Amino acid sequence: PDLRTVSAMFDHAVATAPEAVMLRHLDTTLTYREAGRAVAALARRLAADAEPGAVVALLLPNSAEFDIAYFAALRAATVPALLNPLYPAPQLEPLLREVMPRAVICTPATRDLVRGLAGRLGIASVICLGAEVTLAGLVAEPEARLDRPAAAPDDVAALLFSGGTTGLPKAVEHTHGRLVTAVRCVEYNWPTRMSGEVWLPIAPFTHVYGFLQGVLAPVSARAEVVIPERFKPEHVVEMLARHRVTVFGGGPPAIYAGLLAAANLPGADLSALRICPAGGAPMPLELHQRWKRATGLDVHEGYGMTEMAPISGTTALSGVRPGSVGPAIPCNEIQIVDLETGRRILPAGERGEVRVRGPHMMTGHRNRPQETAETIRDGFIYTGDIGHLDADGFLFITDRRKDVVLVKGFNVFPREVEEVLYAHPRVAAAGVVGVADARTGGEALVAYVVPRAGEAITEAELAAHLAERLVAYKCPGEIRIVEALPMTGAQKLDRIALRRAAADSLS
Ligand code: ATP
Ligand code: MG
Repeated sequence: PDLRTVSAMFDHAVATAPEAVMLRHLDTTLTYREAGRAVAALARRLAADAEPGAVVALLLPNSAEFDIAYFAALRAATVPALLNPLYPAPQLEPLLREVMPRAVICTPATRDLVRGLAGRLGIASVICLGAEVTLAGLVAEPEARLDRPAAAPDDVAALLFSGGTTGLPKAVEHTHGRLVTAVRCVEYNWPTRMSGEVWLPIAPFTHVYGFLQGVLAPVSARAEVVIPERFKPEHVVEMLARHRVTVFGGGPPAIYAGLLAAANLPGADLSALRICPAGGAPMPLELHQRWKRATGLDVHEGYGMTEMAPISGTTALSGVRPGSVGPAIPCNEIQIVDLETGRRILPAGERGEVRVRGPHMMTGHRNRPQETAETIRDGFIYTGDIGHLDADGFLFITDRRKDVVLVKGFNVFPREVEEVLYAHPRVAAAGVVGVADARTGGEALVAYVVPRAGEAITEAELAAHLAERLVAYKCPGEIRIVEALPMTGAQKLDRIALRRAAADSLS
């Protein structure tokens, strides 16, 4: 079969594994056959509100409804835009404006908010799944033809917003063909089997990482997806064991830190589990080691971004090399270029900006040719990340260009300081940011530290720990013990919020 589009991939799963379970979530269990029927029924409804090529926004949590809405939007030949339903209204409004959807699909939990926004933005159609339209109702609808063109590999298959770590999330455009290529990369690198896998995704399906792992790759493999109620570590450990999960969704380090703190992790039967990926943010070495001790499994760290759908490098096949996110995956290139011109390719060992190229990169930022031209140059995506390659081509990420802190004329990479804090046995999480320092005219470092559950730690102890391991200018002038760190919707450290908190408390 011709499987060059995401839609064809879904149809293939429905045709070849109709009775296999596609999804379990709360009290819903959905087979591929049922999913096929629900998708067709919702597509017919959507087609009444949105013409081919119109954008349909999905504001849905990880759920069966998400998958049905996504594939239905494709079936109706519309362009699905994925939006995190946990974003508050003021954060959602600019994102909706950016993509201007014809229809929004939501759940009862966000209906009022969505109706308010839709009214303000002039969006005529709001479909609430779980209220007037239910999954059971869609599955039971009699079949009928829908006259919409089949997708082509170059059609846009998803608008995905970037994590919003450095500013307003950007709407990233991915085509069917490139997303299918991205799925093939996942399958090759981990590697996953084409049947019999059970996946437990954690990351939001609205983020490229959760989308690939929780929706596209499992559908391609005709796998079963079990969706936890929410990220509660004990609950997730229990589900990993009960459903004999083989592929864990993983995600940013905070996920692994959470599971390691779960009371039921020791003794849980995770013997079916094979694949534990991580990515999205730097994974402290210490966390790798604790996970390996607890489960016997390696964490396969990956490096990527929304613009690359998402993976460019991973340790999955190469084996773990401490501190590295791995070499480039096959058919991808990773280069380090100088920070000034961005054109001089630097040799192994030298630090510069990371640029990446591969067959699954975005076609561009929606409606933003200027930003697209700044991000894609000479055929490469300029990542805004700083790092170096070693002699074997393993990539080491130092930090983001935008996070570098200038202290007394020296560049400090917050990640380096955070690694030292993570290495302290009583530290659960740490975040370091720079704030304007009126005395020096430069910036000063402020560290936020969360102690491990049930442990106490003092600022003085941490200051001594840092002073023993770092040169003086890298040691934060301020250390604050806190109960939790602010996280973005994608579960990454929210440095913007942290910088704001630090600035507020200093002024
Ligand atoms: P925005 O672009 O909107 O500011 P974002 O860059 O966080 O947000 P994503 O596309 O979700 O949005 O994340 C990609 C970024 O995450 C990369 O550019 C890199 O900075 C970081 N990242 C991803 N994987 C890793 C990793 N394994 N180690 C370190 N950093 C990583
Ligand atoms: Mg980014």
